Parts: sequence; C-alpha cells; structure tokens
Amino acid sequence: MNTEKVISRDNDYILHTYARSPVALVAGEGMVARDAEGRQYLDFTSGIGVNSLGYCHPAWVRAVAGQAAALQHTSNLYYTEPCGALAQALCARTGLDAVFFGNSGAEANEGAIKCARKYSVDTYGPARNKVITLVNSFHGRTLATLTATGQDVFHHDFGPFPANFDYVPAGDFAALEKATDADTCAVMLELVQGEGGVVALDADYVAKVAAFCKEKDILLIVDEVQTGVGRTGRFLACEHFGLKPDIVTLAKGLGGGLPIGAVVMNQKVAAHMGPGSHGSTFGGNPVCCAGALAVLDTMDEAFLAQVRERAAQLRAGLAALPHVQQVSGLGLMVGIELADGIKAAEVRAACEREGLLVLTAKTRLRLLPPLILTADDVAAALATLRRVLENTRS
Ligand SMILES: *Cc1c(COP(=O)(O)O)cnc(C)c1O
Repeated sequence: MNTEKVISRDNDYILHTYARSPVALVAGEGMVARDAEGRQYLDFTSGIGVNSLGYCHPAWVRAVAGQAAALQHTSNLYYTEPCGALAQALCARTGLDAVFFGNSGAEANEGAIKCARKYSVDTYGPARNKVITLVNSFHGRTLATLTATGQDVFHHDFGPFPANFDYVPAGDFAALEKATDADTCAVMLELVQGEGGVVALDADYVAKVAAFCKEKDILLIVDEVQTGVGRTGRFLACEHFGLKPDIVTLAKGLGGGLPIGAVVMNQKVAAHMGPGSHGSTFGGNPVCCAGALAVLDTMDEAFLAQVRERAAQLRAGLAALPHVQQVSGLGLMVGIELADGIKAAEVRAACEREGLLVLTAKTRLRLLPPLILTADDVAAALATLRRVLENTRS
C-alpha cells in the first residue's frame, strides 16, 4: 500500500486527534526509517523518546521475538520470569525498592498518584490527599493525569476533574511553600519539562523542594517518563540532581518500542499497596518486560558515557547554527529556541522534506534521537539543520 492510500484510509477511520505529517513508515533499522516509496528518514524523534535503541535493535528483537514465541501473556494471577527480572533490574538501577507495571506514562503517573494518596491517607487520615504539580508540566491524558498536567490548554471541555490538585510555577519555591497545607500528600514534577518546552528545573530549586518534602513527609514523585532510562545521559535524570525521590515513574524509552510503564517506589510507599489496591490486565506483560530487559542490559555505563558524548557534540553543533538562540534541556533531550521570528513548525516540516525527522515543543524545535546515535549521525543531522536554517526566512 502506498503512502497516499495509507493516509486516506486513516483519515476515514481513525479519530482526528493528531496533527500528523504526510509520512507513512513501513520499516526501520537503527537510526533510519523508510516509507512505502523507499524514501529514507534519519530519525531524531525515536517515536517521541520511545525507541531508545533505535529501530529493531538486534538484541531487543531477539528478546521480544523469543518471548512472544514462548509465552505472550498470562495475566497477573500467575508469575512470569521477565517481569520480576525487570523489576529487580529497575530497583538496582534506581536504588528504589519495588515496582508496579502498567502500560503507559499516564498509567504510571496515575499509579504514582494512587500510591502517594494511599500512603498519606493511611498515615495521616482521609483529608491528606492534595497533589501539587508545576505549571507547564505534562503528566498524561487520563483524567487524573490530565488534571495533574499544569497546562490549561489540555483541560478545556473535559471536566469535572478529580479534586485537590494545585499548580505552582516551576522554580518558585515560595509559591510551593505557600500552596502546601496540612492536606498536601505529594509534589509531582518533571526534572526537565518535556512537552512544556524542554525546560530543565534549577538544581537549587529541586534541592529545596526535596528537603521541604522530606521535612513535611510529603512524597516526592518524579515523572521520568521522558527523562528516564538513559535519555539525559544517566539512567535517571534524578542522578544529575543528586535526588532520591519516593516515587519515580518511567515509560517512553523503557520498553524500547513496546508499551510499558513503571511506578518505582521506596519501601515506605510500597508497604501500603496491598492486594487489590491497584491492578492492570496487561501490566507486566512478559513480551514488553523482555524488551525492556534488553534495553536495560544494553544500557551499561559505557553506553551512557556514549550518550553523554553524543549529547555534548550535538549541543555544541546546534549552538553554532544560524538563527539558534538557545539550546535547552539535558543530554539527548534537546530544545532549540530559534531567533529572528523563525517558526519551529516550519523548520520541522522543512527538515522532514530533507529526510530528517525532528519534533517541536511549544515554540521550540525539539530533538529526542535514539540513544544509539553515532558521531556521524549527529554530523548528518547538523548538516541538514544548517541547510534548512540557512534557507529559512524570518
Ligand atoms: C509522554 C509523557 C507522559 C504520558 O505518557 P503516555 O505514555 O503518553 O501516557 C507523562 N509524563 C511525561 C513527562 C511525558 O513526557
């Protein structure tokens, strides 16, 4: 089926909730995706931070195909090996104690909110259930995580919303102190706001928030759905901030392309989540867990050192491009603020026509390349971006 036919059928039968590019992909290998007409794209989006090992990494394919051929699903009424192995690996990598598996970032955050409220309500009584998040955050599209998302643009027409969420501007510690009351049970934040424009939080602010939460026994939930699993050059972005939260959520890059989300927490929180308190039919699916294990196995210290090197190369190269005002974010989570009134959306479309896939976030151009990229891939993307930017009129 050619691209035109794929697009036309989608338009007929799929809900029009996405503003899509006129591109239909059929295959991929490493950094490169291919469409039905054989056109190739250098992919600096990794399916929005999901394909952490690129397209069809051999170790990942082997793990997933092997597990699919052995046992694809059992429900959580029975035990399977991959899910426990993955949970053990995640605890080892994060220093936390226990994991709940779901299927997406939103579900992971939904689970985190439930875990936080359960701990707080059990410990301090039913009124202590307020969750504070940051303005410009993004935590997902389910009703509770949409409520947690501090961007009004997503809220219109979907209320009523779950009660007792509040928002404070990122970086404003006094505002957080002021919003906190006797009923506050958790603060949830992204260390680099992704969908909010690729904006890293200030380290001093994060340290203050962490100390404040600890003092008040308010649980700190760090949403690492986008920043986690090597994206910033460390397994968790928390490591850059010397941070040990009560709960960390993971999803996007964890499964290497399969749907999986994880709520990773300390024993204090885990102890309150007994039988029946939470559940998921697909959560902990052995095929997804086998894929995630292949991701974690591949992502050793040498791999992460390589991510940091490529990130430094990419950031230095971007800063030297025409019309680039500022390069934001952390590691391979990159935001590019353009000067001279140049529109990120137009640059993104032009890159696509030149065979380079990139993203936008708010007014910024955004790059989330697979973590396997080489120095040559970085150079190729920079060359295309330079060509596009040189030819873009403000
Ligand atoms: C993408 C994202 C989510 C939502 O993940 P889904 O898998 O789309 O539900 C939540 N939090 C952050 C920080 C994200 O980037």
